[in-house]
Amino acid sequence: MAGLAMDQRDGWIWYDGEFVAWKDAKLHVLTHGLHYASSVFEGQRAYGGQVYKLHQHSERLIKSAKYLDFDLPYDANELDAACREVLKKNNLADAYMRPVAWRGSEEMGVNARNNKVHVAIAAWEWPSYFSRGERLKGIRLTIADWRRPAPDTIPCKSKAAGLYMICTLSKQAAADKGYSDAMMLDYRGLVSEATGANVFFHRDGELHTPTPDCFLNGITRQTVIGLARDMGLKIIERQIRPEELGDFDECFLTGTAAEITPVAEIDQYHYQPGKICQGVVDAYEKEVQPKRAAAE
Ligand code: PMP
Repeated sequence: MAGLAMDQRDGWIWYDGEFVAWKDAKLHVLTHGLHYASSVFEGQRAYGGQVYKLHQHSERLIKSAKYLDFDLPYDANELDAACREVLKKNNLADAYMRPVAWRGSEEMGVNARNNKVHVAIAAWEWPSYFSRGERLKGIRLTIADWRRPAPDTIPCKSKAAGLYMICTLSKQAAADKGYSDAMMLDYRGLVSEATGANVFFHRDGELHTPTPDCFLNGITRQTVIGLARDMGLKIIERQIRPEELGDFDECFLTGTAAEITPVAEIDQYHYQPGKICQGVVDAYEKEVQPKRAAAE
């Protein structure tokens, strides 16, 4: 993907029910979504031609929009069908897919009730969020200065563009210091998640993960909880204080883009990606690529 701008690729983007050439999938500068962040999106992956948990992603997109007080002009089944068409039209089998919905440009102002809702879906090859080398060794994280906001200050359950403002700031600040990503604390100072992925910690056969009461309860997070239980691990969802970060031996991130990414460091705390990380990586791979795993 080196050097090729995201708006200069070849292919087809599904845009309000029709396919448009990739480079022509544009919108107006006076779009409400751009000025006031009335925009929600999904991130989903296709493995071997099938989008993993597609219907759950389509439902989450609709719910995300509802949290922002707008309705999509498509139901979840229609979104599922559109996503499948996008894969087919672009001849993709293993891909990352980005549905996005936003309020349009009919009126300018904070109140956007009369603005039309638009939906677009793009897909492209995106092998791994973190580089392979990083993933094998475990990535390095630093604690962000920005904190996940309280549930009564922003619709924190929505996968909304506005929630990512502090994620971009945190990830860029981390990258400037040589880290792969940032670990965010929440408004209470508790451990929450990375800038685009949930987090798990291991000790003594137990997986500890923060309770998702002010951040996204990721689809991958929920999948991993099930897989880890099947592996015989005990899952403990609870409030985790930053002083506890040194009490664990393994740590990993989960997310559609990040998949399962072992963590080697969070500032002064060190982890050794080992049997637990490897076990979860393998189980997740089998889960999302059942055909490939069965053929091996
Ligand atoms: N938290 C944030 C902030 C994210 O952007 C993501 C990625 N969507 C996640 C968690 C993980 O969610 P999922 O597993 O559903 O991709």
